[in-house]
Amino acid sequence: MKPEYDVIVVGAGVAGLTAAQYAARASLRTLVIESVTPGGQALIIDDLENYPGQVTPIKGNDLIESFQQQAEQFGAEMIMARVKSITKSDDIFTVETRKRTVTSYTVIFATGAQHRHLGAIGEEEFGGSGVSYCATCDGPFFRGKRILVVGGGDSACDEATYLSKLSEDVTLIHRRDRFRAQASLAERVHNNKNIRVKLNHELLKIEGDKKVEQVTFLNNETGEEYTEQMDGVFIFVGSIPQTELLNSFSEIERDETGYIKTNEYMESALSGLFVAGDVRATPFRQIVTAASDGAIASHGAGLYIDNLLGKAYL
Ligand code: NAP
Repeated sequence: MKPEYDVIVVGAGVAGLTAAQYAARASLRTLVIESVTPGGQALIIDDLENYPGQVTPIKGNDLIESFQQQAEQFGAEMIMARVKSITKSDDIFTVETRKRTVTSYTVIFATGAQHRHLGAIGEEEFGGSGVSYCATCDGPFFRGKRILVVGGGDSACDEATYLSKLSEDVTLIHRRDRFRAQASLAERVHNNKNIRVKLNHELLKIEGDKKVEQVTFLNNETGEEYTEQMDGVFIFVGSIPQTELLNSFSEIERDETGYIKTNEYMESALSGLFVAGDVRATPFRQIVTAASDGAIASHGAGLYIDNLLGKAYL
């Protein structure tokens, strides 16, 4: 049986849209399936300043629009639907969505990762009432107010910098004595007069009457616990890969934190299933590396199909 598509891309973030663009341009019949809205994590980037060749910083939203347009111009189809299952039988993948069930020789899995929660007391209770995981989405609500940012990676430093343009009173806490973030981002935070950095600090509790009013810190060096008044709490403590749809494939290898391992063609241990972007086990996650993953994955998918059909005709 010939499947409807050569490549089905699951997830329309930077990795997925790049994969779709390369696959469609290589004349592979390509379908992109996205459950929410195209863009993924890139949508929350305020000013993207390190995309190669992009001298003027660009909004993540604008970049995504051009990625999508380019993929569609080359002939990639796109549907908005939640994927319910992915199965493989006789070298054909079947992807079941709430709208359609479609078949393909290959799947490029680019579902990304979601924000990790911290587990502080009050974090869930005040979600949407002062606790946020997206500075560009919710930052403007806290213009001129007291803002706490939690985390020590690139996201925390980037988002604290963004929030410091909205308020002169931003506090950034990190649980260790040095940032995990790239040196350039950490330095920017340290030199920002609107950001007060507290290292060796943990957030224990968030309290208030219907909205955030006060937080309790632990200084893990001294053991001291103390409270401060705060209006908004932004949490950036990493992410969790979105891999549930692959749970039935026991052969797929993951790293210790659940990200999917691939070879240099972005192919997982399940042949024909390629993985790209933030959901993949990789030491560095950037827009440019997600795009690169997508390009390599679609190239790998093309080679895989050639090989598969070549074998089939022998
Ligand atoms: P990340 O690099 O995994 O950093 C997560 C941070 O949260 C770490 O500093 C970690 O502390 C801290 N953390 C984790 N669990 C915690 C807990 N329970 N309590 C307190 N702190 C906790 O995540 P990310 O910053 O979201 O970045 C994700 C990926 O996207 C990275 O590859 C990053 O390079 C990339 N990214 C790049 C940019 C950019 O280039 N501009 C911007 C955003 C993201 P420890 O350090 O102690 O482990």
